[in-house]
Amino acid sequence: MNDNIISKYVYQFISSKNENLIYSSRSNSILKITKELSEFLEEAKQKSSLLLYLDEKLFQLFKHHKIIVNKRDDADFLLERQFVEDQITFSNSTIGLVLVPTLACNFDCSYCFEEGKKAVKMNDDIIEQLILFVKRHKNAKNLEITWYGGEPLLAFDTIKRIIDKIKNEIDLKLTKHSIVTNGYYFTNEVIDYFKINTLNDIQITLDGNKERHDSIRKQKKTGEGSYEVLMNNIENILEKLSDTQLSIRVNIDKKNVDDFNIIYHDLRERWKGKKINIYPGILRIDNDSKKALSSESLSQWETFDLYFDLRKKKMIEGSIFPTLEYHKGCCATVLNSYIIGPRGEIYKCWNDVSDETRIVGYIKDEKLSNPSLFYRYIIGSKFYKDKECLDCFLLPVCSGKCAFFHLRNLYEDGKYNLCQCLQKSPYLLNRCLEHFYYENTDKVCSYKD
Ligand code: SF4
Ligand code: SF4
Ligand code: SF4
Repeated sequence: MNDNIISKYVYQFISSKNENLIYSSRSNSILKITKELSEFLEEAKQKSSLLLYLDEKLFQLFKHHKIIVNKRDDADFLLERQFVEDQITFSNSTIGLVLVPTLACNFDCSYCFEEGKKAVKMNDDIIEQLILFVKRHKNAKNLEITWYGGEPLLAFDTIKRIIDKIKNEIDLKLTKHSIVTNGYYFTNEVIDYFKINTLNDIQITLDGNKERHDSIRKQKKTGEGSYEVLMNNIENILEKLSDTQLSIRVNIDKKNVDDFNIIYHDLRERWKGKKINIYPGILRIDNDSKKALSSESLSQWETFDLYFDLRKKKMIEGSIFPTLEYHKGCCATVLNSYIIGPRGEIYKCWNDVSDETRIVGYIKDEKLSNPSLFYRYIIGSKFYKDKECLDCFLLPVCSGKCAFFHLRNLYEDGKYNLCQCLQKSPYLLNRCLEHFYYENTDKVCSYKD
């Protein structure tokens, strides 16, 4: 009696060197096999009783790599995966706060969500409510804060007041402290403050090379570009906040994608040996109907091509070969993470900030004002609610879909391509897998007859 089958998480292909490779996403391993064995395994997929005829050594090898599994094993794996996902979702030991002390900004970027919105600043009443809101999370032990805007440093006084109150009135460990800023107001005064109130991460955005950046990130009032000011401020940060990880996001769309290489090498040369992470920020600009990306934005597969190339050149972090890590979720998909706007309004996703229709509640209230949106983010966006993911052989190595766009597909007739897994791209899957196999043959187990 045979209780074994070929796992649904197995993928076979012929490499560019005309060799048969077999990949298992359950074990994340890749093996070279003979053509005959490959054909045998294909047949055994349809007729599992054939596995009884497999040589014992090979059988054990394939069991070890989860190429052959017990017939209930894949289903049990999905239950385990859902359990872990739910544990992450409902963990209450940490509160993650993205705080928006103001929606105002000194710049005027054409693609900004802030356009036409009121430049409200968080007042003392809201700060009091914020402290009470955090205290209501009785099981929490850790606090993570990210400053966001508008431009958060336009409300530097508010940031200082909130940090003071947290230090004096809240008994939680500040385990992560970050800021997403346009960088223009990162003055010496700000640096001195963050020397004491240490930041783990600073993210500053450039909109491409100097010419492009200055034409987009210009002062609202004077139209003056900001590139030189940012370069000086970044230099100052690197020198004086050397314990903080500085990330430079370089915004990219179809028009300037070829500039990234040059910008990257220029900046690396300028800040040689410094703790700085430079990466492409893919601009996701909607088309007019907000149902798909505009023609200016790189498509998902074009984005993956770019990542593949940059990772191959070791210019950006991340693995070309899949990794077997559980997706940690994002602010939108876990319970205890909130984005809090200047009026005390709560959002789940960064993209929702300042959109009245996307507010899920207010920090002063016990009850949510838009529970449907909240539950859609927390539960509705999960892989176990998504047939495409449940059927996908890459699920064990996938970091899931962006919940914001996934909800657009589900509820607003969106047509976004959302797979975040580099290897899902039809043009890249084989190249990613074989790149690893041929570069690291000592790290993989290969069967050769
Ligand atoms: S810097 Fe950021 S917040 Fe300010 S206008 Fe540009 S995108 Fe918007
Ligand atoms: S839903 Fe998408 S855009 Fe929103 S916070 Fe999560 S990953 Fe970011
Ligand atoms: S997001 Fe895409 S690659 Fe990932 S499991 Fe779902 S369908 Fe597969």
